[in-house]
Amino acid sequence: MGRRRERTTSHDAFFGHVRRCAICALIAVSLLAAAAPARAGDIVSASCPCGFQRQGMPIFGGFATYKTSCLFPALCRATRTMVLGNLMDPAAGAKDCPAPEMVFYNDPSLAPEHPGRVVSSWNMPDAKGQALLYEGGYVCPACGRRTLRFRHVGFWD
Ligand SMILES: [Zn+2]
Repeated sequence: MGRRRERTTSHDAFFGHVRRCAICALIAVSLLAAAAPARAGDIVSASCPCGFQRQGMPIFGGFATYKTSCLFPALCRATRTMVLGNLMDPAAGAKDCPAPEMVFYNDPSLAPEHPGRVVSSWNMPDAKGQALLYEGGYVCPACGRRTLRFRHVGFWD
């Protein structure tokens, strides 16, 4: 009798412990989720009726990079193409365009007259502001007309 009661008690204690651990784990997971919000960047494509297009550009930041990097499309005046630069470090330029030749697509000189809806938005950390990409039409790197349109095609992290 005494032995059986003892076993039952330890059995209950064991499952009580398991249950407490499960609750602790749940709390820990939800705390982690709250502390590190998912930071998935957007994938956008750009196209112009003149034939210019740039498919599948990963913009903003990913899980590992969002504190220091906010990739954003820029017009490269030297090559008349579209490149990706870091809005949080514009002086770094892009690997395919030197910084002085780059104009980011949030610059008023490239902005659309009728922006339309927001295609992608991103809050940069440390109150560095918001990066917004509208539908367009923006200044096209190839033909120079305000007929370049962006569209959202997916996410990356
Ligand atoms: Zn064009």
